[in-house]
Amino acid sequence: MSVTTHKTFCRFCHAYCAIEVDVEDGKPIEVRGDVEDPVYGGYTCIKGRQLPEQYTTPARISKSLKRMPNGEFEEIDTNQAMDEIAEKVKQLMDDHGARSIATYVGSYGYQNSAALVIPKAWHKSVGSPSYYTSVTIDQPARHIASSRLGAWGGGTHKFTDADVCMMIGNNPVVSQFTPFGGPPPFSPYARLRDEMKKGMQVIVVDPRQTEVANRSTHFLQVNPGEDVPFLAGFVRQILKEGLHDHEFCAAHMEGLEELEASVEPYTPEFVAERCGIEVEDFLEAVRVFGNAERGVVVGGTGPNMAPHGILIEHFIQTLNFICGRVNKEGEVVPNPGMISAPATRRGEVHPPWPAYGVGPKSRVRGLGEVFGEMPTAALNDEILLEGEGQVKALFCLGGNPMVAFPDQDKTKEAMEKLDLLVCVDLYMSATAKLADYIIAPTISLERDDMTILTDTWYDVPYAHYTKAVLPRNEQSREEWEIYWELSHRLGVPIDLPGGPLDPENRPTKYEALKLCTAGSRINIDEMREKGKGHLYEEVEVRVEPAREDRDAKFQLMPEGVADEIAEVFSENNRVDGKIIDDGKEFTHLMISRRLKHVFNSSGQQLSNLQKKGTTNPAYMNPADLEEMGIRSGELVEITGAYGMLVGVAEAAKDVKRGVISMAHAWGDIPGNWGDVREKGSSTNRLIDDHKTYDPITGQPRMTAIPVNVRHIREDAA
Ligand code: SF4
Repeated sequence: MSVTTHKTFCRFCHAYCAIEVDVEDGKPIEVRGDVEDPVYGGYTCIKGRQLPEQYTTPARISKSLKRMPNGEFEEIDTNQAMDEIAEKVKQLMDDHGARSIATYVGSYGYQNSAALVIPKAWHKSVGSPSYYTSVTIDQPARHIASSRLGAWGGGTHKFTDADVCMMIGNNPVVSQFTPFGGPPPFSPYARLRDEMKKGMQVIVVDPRQTEVANRSTHFLQVNPGEDVPFLAGFVRQILKEGLHDHEFCAAHMEGLEELEASVEPYTPEFVAERCGIEVEDFLEAVRVFGNAERGVVVGGTGPNMAPHGILIEHFIQTLNFICGRVNKEGEVVPNPGMISAPATRRGEVHPPWPAYGVGPKSRVRGLGEVFGEMPTAALNDEILLEGEGQVKALFCLGGNPMVAFPDQDKTKEAMEKLDLLVCVDLYMSATAKLADYIIAPTISLERDDMTILTDTWYDVPYAHYTKAVLPRNEQSREEWEIYWELSHRLGVPIDLPGGPLDPENRPTKYEALKLCTAGSRINIDEMREKGKGHLYEEVEVRVEPAREDRDAKFQLMPEGVADEIAEVFSENNRVDGKIIDDGKEFTHLMISRRLKHVFNSSGQQLSNLQKKGTTNPAYMNPADLEEMGIRSGELVEITGAYGMLVGVAEAAKDVKRGVISMAHAWGDIPGNWGDVREKGSSTNRLIDDHKTYDPITGQPRMTAIPVNVRHIREDAA
């Protein structure tokens, strides 16, 4: 028996850590960090080290399945399944038009680098706008805020060498994600430690004393849902104390005076009252951030899921720009992107661009395409609402709508109404249980991939192309290949940046990626030949002077922003210590969080990760639990204005009083609450998609949800 070692990168989550995998007799036996990698330096987390079990677990779907008339699944040859699926797709397109065919790419599907490009290209080729991803129920606000405000050609400051980093609702040591400028998600503890040793000040603003808050120099434990008052007051104070970059503002801002007037009511005292923090702590944070030379503020997924998410992101980006935290003329652009096409970076403002309000319209709630995708929060209604344009078929790539989409009962109704539900899923997930076909996917170690998703997330010029480490089972298909199979059977070629994907002959993954990445700064063949992650130190891009005929400015007060700032100021949902929502009284606010041992719903199936917990506890402050006579491990009923769930209470000092903190993307098809300790509970049961949603993105309120808590006495049940 011989053991071979392969360099590759982990695709369990989107951190893409460089790893080494030992393979014995065709099976992976050990994963460890690649200590030679110039970016990751040997970092892995507990999830990535479970890739061997992901390969061998009996829970894995390794042969495709078809639902039979009796409701049971039976194995089916994948080619036969694709013949049947393609025939159904053709019939639906003939009868109801191309729009009736939809795709949803979930967070696991995103880890297949070609699935970022090819499914969307297929939709374009057949003329179906029904393309949905998890981004529009996760972090749409960042893109939209940027498109209204404008962007800086030279980019913003990087984390390394910064004097300060402020994180709003971002916990990268657990989520393994941070927008550019925050702690890189790989080895985040070490990166924080290294920079803090050099003197970096770290400000964390969060309702929970998170893992990153424990390492910060300044922690402000704000009330949930109050990020707008915090940031509006922060901008006000920066301007009042003259801590902004006067020269940069004078040259590149439009609407600064109007902004200053709009945030004027947000005094430090008002901020302290709304956020539940001390005035002195707030002012100190303002001065630490404002007096620094370099370093940015970043927001996490939580604020994007909260009410007024776009306004929160607007303030975050505004703060960076008014403080001049950008790479200016002559400075080096930390990472211009190795897979992206080369482009000159200039010290000028890119004017706002149309990321919404153009393109196809949704049939519900006045929504429409956002940055070229349909809003996922409207997909259930697009399936349920009869008439022209109704979605009849859904391809679900590495996503689990039953636990991820808002309003779980409505999601179940929608999934059951579909004429065709095809899941490409590694496990029998809650959604896969409702599918007509489940196509067995490859796991990451069985496929070539490259760092397309993370290309511009690094703060150095880095890229990695990996070849497959293990041969794949011939019954399995990659997420993108489903669309080649359709293209092959329907005879419609898929147009990619490098040309059409041949519908006649099955392309290799390398051939597909070559077409996807045509025009990249570094040629794909060069990356592939390296056989490991590589730092392209020879790439040095500096910020060029602005063009003389360009005078675009940041739009600090786009339409509607002044009204929204005023609206938030007068919002008062608290009366006599109770929280009022939809005319009802509540005692707590439920906030979302992540758990280190799972990536959304991925990982809940693996034995070593199950040892860390098989449920998503309802974390509450010990004093709240004591007051209600509830002990850790007991069941609680959590009820909001639009739904209820059963959770397992867990005392946690890091949670503020009056707050419940639960991870999303847990649970199963609703029905048996007795399983909550083994399967968790979907927090999306509390989310409505039709009353509290963003009018541009459709993003529902998925955190800071008013709820009541009731002790369930199991012995009395
Ligand atoms: S953080 Fe963990 S799961 Fe994510 S890529 Fe790295 S090792 Fe894999």
